[in-house]
Amino acid sequence: MTFTIHGVGVSRGVVIGRVHILERDQLEVQEYAIAKEKVNAEILRLQNAITAARLQLRAIREHVPKSTAAEIAAFIDTHLLMLEDSSLTQEPVRLIAELRCNAEWALKLQRDALVAVFDEMDDPYLRTRRDDVDHVVNRIQRILANQIPAKHEIPDSRLRDLVVLADDLTPADTVLMQHHGIAAFITEYGGPTSHTAILARSLGIPAIVGVHQARRYIRDDDTVIVDGTNGVVIVEPDDNILSYYRDKQAADSRYYAELAKLKEAPATTMDGVEISLLANIELPADFEAVRRVGARGIGLYRTEFLYMNRPHLPDEDEQFERYCDVLHALDGIPVTIRTLDLGGDKTVDGGYQDRPVAANPALGLRAVRLCLKDPSLFRPQLRAILRASAFGPVRLMIPMLSSLHEMQQVKMLVEEVRSEFRMRGIKFDEGMQVGGMIEVPAAAVCADLFVKHADFLSIGTNDLIQYTMAIDRVNDEVNYLYDPLHPGVVRLIRHTIEAGEKSGKTVAMCGEMAGDPRYVRLLLALGLREFSVHPAALLEIKRIIRDSHAGELAKMQSAILACASGREVAAVLDRIN
Ligand code: PEP
Ligand code: MG
Repeated sequence: MTFTIHGVGVSRGVVIGRVHILERDQLEVQEYAIAKEKVNAEILRLQNAITAARLQLRAIREHVPKSTAAEIAAFIDTHLLMLEDSSLTQEPVRLIAELRCNAEWALKLQRDALVAVFDEMDDPYLRTRRDDVDHVVNRIQRILANQIPAKHEIPDSRLRDLVVLADDLTPADTVLMQHHGIAAFITEYGGPTSHTAILARSLGIPAIVGVHQARRYIRDDDTVIVDGTNGVVIVEPDDNILSYYRDKQAADSRYYAELAKLKEAPATTMDGVEISLLANIELPADFEAVRRVGARGIGLYRTEFLYMNRPHLPDEDEQFERYCDVLHALDGIPVTIRTLDLGGDKTVDGGYQDRPVAANPALGLRAVRLCLKDPSLFRPQLRAILRASAFGPVRLMIPMLSSLHEMQQVKMLVEEVRSEFRMRGIKFDEGMQVGGMIEVPAAAVCADLFVKHADFLSIGTNDLIQYTMAIDRVNDEVNYLYDPLHPGVVRLIRHTIEAGEKSGKTVAMCGEMAGDPRYVRLLLALGLREFSVHPAALLEIKRIIRDSHAGELAKMQSAILACASGREVAAVLDRIN
């Protein structure tokens, strides 16, 4: 019987294949007492298991193919580091000695304590660290139980072209999956920011996560269609559905092959208006995608990912090196480095989490507010960005400005660093541009004022829509109000672009709206001339730009701005698309 299950599509593409279920549930651990004279032997048993776990992981690490994204190896390194950490090497030893219990039980107690700490955390990204604890502890438990490595850890060509279904996948698993040539994967847990999702995107494997209880309904060897674009799994599809999706696959590959030809083509409209089409990046894994689509610059580098997922903040030197890595890896294309945007849905960060969680974090001490409040956090970043500017074209961009005063304060801090560098003979680019993001309605309304103090502006629609519509962008219940076409949003966008036109300065857009094919012509009609989009979306956006007539679209602007509802805007959009 055919049925569908839904999850969160985190990596695009359609795959039709047979299911292979990875059984990797937690081992049932029993407590038993250890005689006093056997305590040392029990401690040794634990330590040997930890050593064996390290050896297993090192072996996997060595088999990471060179072509694999750097962060995959980094995830395995994280697990290796955890195996060195006293929370796993010392604390269970203390528990064995103190409680005279078996190694498995001590490890379980310590696992529960660590997981409880992660569960308390508000940041969904950091909460996924609890999975890392489980992955590492399970590995040791399996060794203690004398189990051979799980089936999927043995290089196995039988996995080729299969759709892997698991409760969750460790980074190490995922590397091996790619090695084995799996076609797609489905996991029961994990959200769009989980490691699994990040890896799937960077490895280009269609994937759906958060398919709750999938293993209750899907069996080994079932045929499934994984539609990673829409987050749908179709189980035992009938012939009609199969042929529909086969046609879709064929059409997709023809379409992507055609799109790839646009790599070198200019993003120029039919009537000769040149559009600047840039890419957004977060992680080193994005470099390859940026090169593949031939982006001419980076319009948004979200630096906060550098601060996450680690016990200590990166210092100035480390940040400088990472920024230089980006400049180097991207062959000298201009990079817009956004200063730290922590807070909101990215509340907790390594080594910087002693403050209580605000009731409304999105309205709290976030982004530039946090940075200005704590120069010890901000100054090293400004210094690192300025130092990096000597090694390639860099623009500095400030997120979430709400008042001009913030812009002026940042510029003052930048100027202080510049003066010090001049005095000390430290190299930097004297011409480095400093721009600001328009994400708060008050800033959009006053864009004409901001643009006077900035070298460029960039509209962050993800937040601009959240704040204009007064909805939390991570809250499912009010998602229906998240409407880029609402006249309030459309007018604020136009108002900001107009401020750029009048001042002769660039107004870009780097929110998700810029990378959504549905809105390209609307944005062209509103006068947008610089788009910064996810690399995977870039060529499609370029195609639409090249098929559009900017002059004709401009004539629609007043009709768009006169619309009384999102529906009316959508109707106009249907006509121009
Ligand atoms: C935005 O808000 O549109 C944006 C680009 O920033 P972020 O999504 O990182 O908040
Ligand atoms: Mg934002």
